[in-house]
Amino acid sequence: MTKLAAFQQIFRLPDALLPYVDLVATAQEIDLVVALGERALSVGQVAEALGLGGAAAERLLLDATLRAVVERVVEDSAICYRACNAYRRVTYLSMQDYDGWLRVPEDVRATLIEWHLDENIRHHDLARRLDLLRQDPDSLEIHNRDILLLEEALEIVAAAELHVVVPCDCRTTVAACAHERWNTCFRLDDRGRWTLEMGEGQIVTKEECIQILLNADRAGLIHTGQRAEKGRKATVNGNCCACCSYPIRAGMALGMAQQWPRRHYLAHRDEARCVGCGVCVERCPFGALFCREAEDGCMEIVFDADACFGCGLCANTCPEGAMTMRPLSV
Ligand code: SF4
Ligand code: SF4
Repeated sequence: MTKLAAFQQIFRLPDALLPYVDLVATAQEIDLVVALGERALSVGQVAEALGLGGAAAERLLLDATLRAVVERVVEDSAICYRACNAYRRVTYLSMQDYDGWLRVPEDVRATLIEWHLDENIRHHDLARRLDLLRQDPDSLEIHNRDILLLEEALEIVAAAELHVVVPCDCRTTVAACAHERWNTCFRLDDRGRWTLEMGEGQIVTKEECIQILLNADRAGLIHTGQRAEKGRKATVNGNCCACCSYPIRAGMALGMAQQWPRRHYLAHRDEARCVGCGVCVERCPFGALFCREAEDGCMEIVFDADACFGCGLCANTCPEGAMTMRPLSV
């Protein structure tokens, strides 16, 4: 077996990515992954396997860890390294080398994006978790569980003490829209501390975080995170678009649209107040509001409650206050 074939097998690299392997790993990282195989090795063992000095092996492992080519694990109380996989690497690749990722031809990227969503579903064990949600809609056994209204997200950000921003890996990977992709997702408090420990993210002030949130809302992004429930702390994770978001796309792919991430509100249109300006139609990311010709030949605004994700983007921009959000549990 050639070295490249061994790397492809260990790293679970899809065939479509093989011609672009230089984006995925350097020649030295390929040697590293092949040397690791399915094992976890210490810095000393890696140095010996690759014929490197200790400091050079340490530097290689640090860089490869930050690039998600390898991951650090603890084995028998000792720090070791094991090979990562193409799924994790692609998540980081698009954030670390966005221009390189965009150089992959569009049709190949489209295939890879489909593969990456399937891998995401497998990686997070989503089929099982969403089954739990089907049985118990209040199950907390899932990340990024809730769609949040702007006012809910603002309250959560205001209550947090540590505000860390990270790029949106959904939009850097899928790249299906022009929405902001850099420093637009949040890691608050404990998760922020963990993110910084991993060498990722950037601290911003509370005021800066609030401004990022307001800008995202103005641009038409949906806020997701988790509500405070069953002793769990509320948090805001993402400012998501319908076209790139992995949770939204995975929820749809698994027949759980609106249940994960979960909507908690439904839009309501007061026809008497509506002047038919169409702002809400432009704003709705899910096509739940649209224009059609009425029987009298005039255009009318139609609301499809089944398509509504309860994001509140229509309500917070309707100039007449004709769109409001109603809690689903009431
Ligand atoms: S934004 Fe408000 S006023 Fe304009 S069409 Fe929508 S509901 Fe009517
Ligand atoms: S109609 Fe529903 S999905 Fe569309 S913008 Fe309003 S709340 Fe969001």
